[in-house]
Amino acid sequence: MILDNIASSDIAQEIYQLIAELYPICRSITGNGFRETLKIIQQYIPLSIHEVPTGTEVFDWTVPNEWNIKDAYIKNSQGEKIVDFANSNLHVLNYSIPVHQKLSLAELKSHLFTLPDYPDWIPYRTSYYKEAWGFCLSHNQYLQLKDEEYEVYINSSLEPGHLTYGEYFIPGESTDEVLISCHACHPSLCNDNLSGIAIATFIAKYLSQSNPRYSYRFIWIPGTIGSITWLAVNEAQVSNIKHGLVLTCLGDGGKFTYKKSRRGNTEIDRVAAYVLKNSPQEYEIIDFFPYGYDERQYCSPGFNLAVGCLMRSPHGSFPEYHTSADDLNFIHPQYLAESFAQCLSILHILDNNQVFLNQNPKCEPQLGKRGLYEGNNEVKDKRLHEMAMLWVLNFSDGQHTLLDIAQKSGITFDVIKNAADRLLAHDLLKLMTEFVIRHELCN
Ligand code: ZN
Repeated sequence: MILDNIASSDIAQEIYQLIAELYPICRSITGNGFRETLKIIQQYIPLSIHEVPTGTEVFDWTVPNEWNIKDAYIKNSQGEKIVDFANSNLHVLNYSIPVHQKLSLAELKSHLFTLPDYPDWIPYRTSYYKEAWGFCLSHNQYLQLKDEEYEVYINSSLEPGHLTYGEYFIPGESTDEVLISCHACHPSLCNDNLSGIAIATFIAKYLSQSNPRYSYRFIWIPGTIGSITWLAVNEAQVSNIKHGLVLTCLGDGGKFTYKKSRRGNTEIDRVAAYVLKNSPQEYEIIDFFPYGYDERQYCSPGFNLAVGCLMRSPHGSFPEYHTSADDLNFIHPQYLAESFAQCLSILHILDNNQVFLNQNPKCEPQLGKRGLYEGNNEVKDKRLHEMAMLWVLNFSDGQHTLLDIAQKSGITFDVIKNAADRLLAHDLLKLMTEFVIRHELCN
């Protein structure tokens, strides 16, 4: 793959550094933490920031009140802060309503969340759609709480405001779009989903310096309510989206996981499977199921978009998921770079997976007299290049994409693509129009 060198380049550190910069911010599905995150991403790519007012009806949902938080703590009877939001933003139940009161240990306990199985870790808990307040702490700390009076203080606000999302559009030769979506609503959690946020940012930066065939639309949205809102606000343009990927959990050392679109046999599904099969890393391909991340909304039956989900370890499959242990030590620059390269490989093949028509279909054209039996700089193996040209010529019948030909021949996509480029330059192939491609692929 032409992208092999990427995994060893500086990109590993650059992605990790962006995650480290975003890690301390207290994000939620709305609020200033989300805006601050998008402003930092704007230092890499000129994304636009969109604000949708509280109360906006979005299909069966309503954009909620905006949540912001300044401070929170629990003090013991000596006035010592024993749980402090300043130490970890996971300490507060995300979307907690404001509270300031004194209460007994028994009363306090009904507002506390811990992980008895992992007694050193702080859980990540939310209460977006039911007004509540609470604190999350390690189970070891919980066990040490004495029977005394406590003071709880949460300086938050939950008021009409906006739901914020970021969007970045790279126009291509075609108005057909590829959607790249990631949720950006989690506070200090690295794999889920600062890894997706950062990789989407660097993929966008990389593609912005190319001249892609497709147009690419990147969105950084709050999970669930964000994709529902985005689909509702942009419904008129959704039909432009021909392929898409949800990016999440891409920084851990687990094997790659590709979750297929609901349709299950779309081009993005086939390309992702091809890339994973031809990469050295372990992988698993799983069928669509209607929970998980925002693919749930893109693949709801009313849209049924060709959107899959690329992950390493899926949500819930690693104990660190939604805990303070999903931190900067849980992810690794090398794993992030591998994920970046896999994602870029998928988009590279998708963007170049075209259909051609042989202009000399009656018997083989004479390649020697056109100088096509000479090797070229990109494919050193002359015999392989010859074979690739024969495969491309024979199957460029308007029915087969270059990926079809790569799979039939067992020759890598890039060698097949290179052969097609050379044959095209010698007028032995003609590019099929996109309309025809789609028609043919549907049959
Ligand atoms: Zn999550």
